[in-house]
Amino acid sequence: MSRHSFDFGPAGQVRVMSAWTPAQVKTEVEWALERFAEVLPEDLGTGILIKPNMNNDLAALIGNSTDLRVLCSLIEALKNRGYHRIQVADGSNVGVHRRGINTFARLRIDKLVPRYGVSILDLNQDGGVPVPLQAGARPKIARAIMDAEFLISVPKIKTHAEAGLSCALKNWVGICTGQDKREMHRDLGRNIMAINEVVKPDLILVDGLVGMEGNGPGDGEPFRLGHLMMSTEAFTNDVVACRLVGMPIERVPYLEHAIHAGLVSQELLEQSAAQVPMLRQIKHAPQRSRLAELSEARSLNWLKLAVRPLVDDPRVSQLAYKAGIIQDRYSLQDDSITGLRLRKDKCDDCGACAEVCPTHLSAEEIGVKTEPEDCIQCLYCWWACPQEALELEGQLHFMEAHAARYKEQVEALCS
Ligand code: SF4
Ligand code: SF4
Repeated sequence: MSRHSFDFGPAGQVRVMSAWTPAQVKTEVEWALERFAEVLPEDLGTGILIKPNMNNDLAALIGNSTDLRVLCSLIEALKNRGYHRIQVADGSNVGVHRRGINTFARLRIDKLVPRYGVSILDLNQDGGVPVPLQAGARPKIARAIMDAEFLISVPKIKTHAEAGLSCALKNWVGICTGQDKREMHRDLGRNIMAINEVVKPDLILVDGLVGMEGNGPGDGEPFRLGHLMMSTEAFTNDVVACRLVGMPIERVPYLEHAIHAGLVSQELLEQSAAQVPMLRQIKHAPQRSRLAELSEARSLNWLKLAVRPLVDDPRVSQLAYKAGIIQDRYSLQDDSITGLRLRKDKCDDCGACAEVCPTHLSAEEIGVKTEPEDCIQCLYCWWACPQEALELEGQLHFMEAHAARYKEQVEALCS
């Protein structure tokens, strides 16, 4: 395992740690938190709001949403320090919100977080405060974010067809309530920069265990990066994130704007280029189709609204997906998984399942200890198992399409 510390002077410090198993993630989060102890609130009664990335209902091992191993390690580390007013809050993307899909349930955050006595808040349902940004955008930012006493952002590292890369700065699009996120697309690059000037996280913990490359954030390919990163300054954080995955700054419009606005200094760019190692050269997102760009045009909003009932038809959305107009296709049918059982005759004791279990079950316990206090049915073990040794009770439903597309890739990256 490796640890890197970078001190960029006024641009702040960044820690990068390798990790994969739940025990390693826990150790590294504790270690990094200790390094940033001076920024943590002195008053243990301070309200701490953790904002993960729950963009949609793709599980963390596919590279889209924040990994539960990271989330529970952070909560445990904070609770170990005595903080007791902790909340996990996010608002999923506009497609998820419009369809009424509950990502807290689909991603099992609703089963994980209450185990620690921590509450959950859907920012899409929260009252909002309108904030003027760029290009006439005036999205409402969730009241809970505006009022937060201490904010921790827990983003993912993934490519983004429109924004180049999604990490801490892009994670802040999720603080806009409901359909107000569309406002950001009036000029996404400038608005990502601007919203990060309005509200700043106090601490950032990047989930770089599994990322997404190619056509992200909803239709790319997962890859194992096996790293975490902690910092306090979102612009610095994302410059370092770009460096770690070989993403040129000029492919990330909001960082380009930040350089021109003086929010990212030349000194930081030079220092990070000289000091930060590239862990992986990720595949960039492909050029967006002209149709996809047109679909964001505000002047065509009337047309978008008019054809929306059509687009909700799975056959039409399949066509729109094939034409590159949309990335995400949603099923309204939640899964009905009630448990999973180990088939000992199929298991070869590889241990891949235990390396991803956020509740720290061992390979001998997975599929055996199935009570709710042991297993939150996140199915990470099932995604990782290459032998089909974990049999599901209930139906995958919405996850069927995810599994058809990604199961083999997840097995490979977990092996
Ligand atoms: S045993 Fe499997 S489904 Fe249960 S919590 Fe662990 S990884 Fe998730
Ligand atoms: S991943 Fe599958 S095969 Fe490997 S130990 Fe777990 S249940 Fe057995």
